[in-house]
Amino acid sequence: MSDASAQNVPAQIALDTRLVHAGRVGGTGPVNTPVHRASTILFDTVADLDAAKAARFAKGTLFYGRFGTPDTFAFEEAVSALEAGAATVAVPSGLAACVLPLVAFLRPGDHVLVADTIYEPTRTSLNAFIARNGVAVEYVDPRADLAPLLRPETRMIYLESPGSLTFELQDLPAVAALAKGRGIVTVCDNTWATGYFCQPLALGIDIVVQAATKYIVGHSDAMLGTVTVADAALHKPLREAANWLGHAVAPDAIYLGARGLRSLGARLKQHHATGLDLARWLETQPGIARVLHPGLASHPDHAIFRRDFRGASGLFSVLLDTTDRAIATRFADSLALFGLGFSWGGFESLVLPGDPAHARTATAWTEDRQLVRLHAGLEDPADLRADLAQALARCFPA
Ligand SMILES: *Cc1c(COP(=O)(O)O)cnc(C)c1O
Repeated sequence: MSDASAQNVPAQIALDTRLVHAGRVGGTGPVNTPVHRASTILFDTVADLDAAKAARFAKGTLFYGRFGTPDTFAFEEAVSALEAGAATVAVPSGLAACVLPLVAFLRPGDHVLVADTIYEPTRTSLNAFIARNGVAVEYVDPRADLAPLLRPETRMIYLESPGSLTFELQDLPAVAALAKGRGIVTVCDNTWATGYFCQPLALGIDIVVQAATKYIVGHSDAMLGTVTVADAALHKPLREAANWLGHAVAPDAIYLGARGLRSLGARLKQHHATGLDLARWLETQPGIARVLHPGLASHPDHAIFRRDFRGASGLFSVLLDTTDRAIATRFADSLALFGLGFSWGGFESLVLPGDPAHARTATAWTEDRQLVRLHAGLEDPADLRADLAQALARCFPA
């Protein structure tokens, strides 16, 4: 029931238009899909109940609250449109989205290759939970040629492009081509770009995971994750694994995610413009040793960025021209418009001192200058520049 593509938005329609129309029922009545608060779903007959039970892992089946309601299915449909995917599973957090394909597809004896620069809590789940169940977890340089590292038992390649904190890009089409025909499932964490700026599924990747908590929700007020597949055949194993884990997504989070999606394009265009503006300006400032932003010509993977991305989100890092942690701390503490806190993707600017070295094992982070991550929010770029300038002046007096 309720295949929310009822609106039938043709696939060739531009993404901005699809984001407005995808996953809406259409016709008369409220513009937005109403919030359904449900555990029990009632059926007319035992035959209807049995039919729903038999189809409970299929897309859009209304069976029991934990399996989703019409607003869940509508949101999943809209995220599938964003990512050019066949189906989406909504889960309670971004981390739950990262872990779901691991639980669904990895078995004892399997081998998984993982980019060394992934989101650190995903790494923790791999090491503490997936590896414990007899899966060989091998971290790799995000820029390495993976062909020599494949084993007969390699079952998955897990990517995140760009990498958390340090923004290395991966050659997604090359990895996808390597995995095809070998029974290897490729997964990419696409939280940074979202399908608006990069569609890994269109580049040949099998599964995209996202912390919808970030840009899709967009207002720092809900936790939400999505897992989107290119091939509908991968949907059922993911839905089953979500059930094994007991996942259920709160209707308010679904509502905020669906609402955020409608303005995703408008917001991301401004995050893109402000982020690049600040990144380019910071490159010229005393006190800044390097800016790590794939949209800059100075970034080592800029050619991949130009090939595979339509734009950049607002998140990037800088290396301050100091090895002194106290100066990085003073820089972050001196900013007035950049809030200090975890997560990102909301309307507000953020700053976070980071330390990549302790969260990687396949590569060495030898840089000893201080790394600070910035999120360019929707404030006026000139105000953000002025704030960064006064903080730099305080840390690096002329
Ligand atoms: C934040 C983040 C996550 C986790 O999302 P939560 O909703 O906070 O669980 C996963 N991947 C990346 C790249 C992230 O930045």
